Amino acid sequence: MSHEGIRFLSREEQERLDREERRAAALSRDALTPAKVRVLKTEGTGMEIDWADGHTSHWSFQWLRNACPCASCVEDRKNLGLEPGQARPKPAQVLQMFEAPARPASAHAVGRYAIQFNWQDGHSSGIYSWDFLRRNCQCPVCKGTS
Ligand SMILES: [Zn+2]
Ligand SMILES: [Zn+2]
Repeated sequence: MSHEGIRFLSREEQERLDREERRAAALSRDALTPAKVRVLKTEGTGMEIDWADGHTSHWSFQWLRNACPCASCVEDRKNLGLEPGQARPKPAQVLQMFEAPARPASAHAVGRYAIQFNWQDGHSSGIYSWDFLRRNCQCPVCKGTS
């Protein structure tokens, strides 16, 4: 029996694909409708969304900043091989410097489908759709690490 031309997926790849498929299939309209959005600006701890399907998601501001979905950040991450939310590697000398944690100066809804942050570093072009956020829910269940 020949398996020529068939690329076998590693266990990790297969698990990731299965998870994405499950997640895509499972996302109902309610799963993409936020019932309540809390941007914890004062606390600096990030954003929480209670979805209409009863699920709750939380993202740190650092994650959100590193997951900026604007075209130039997406391109940047692609070039560096980073996932949304993954911090970019820093040169060693920069590591010593204090870096203020990411925080939005403000946040506002974009239509009925997204939220936009004005980050304190001046960047504000990313529009975070509910769909993008829900698909990147960081809870152990959605991430498949529970
Ligand atoms: Zn960006
Ligand atoms: Zn989740």
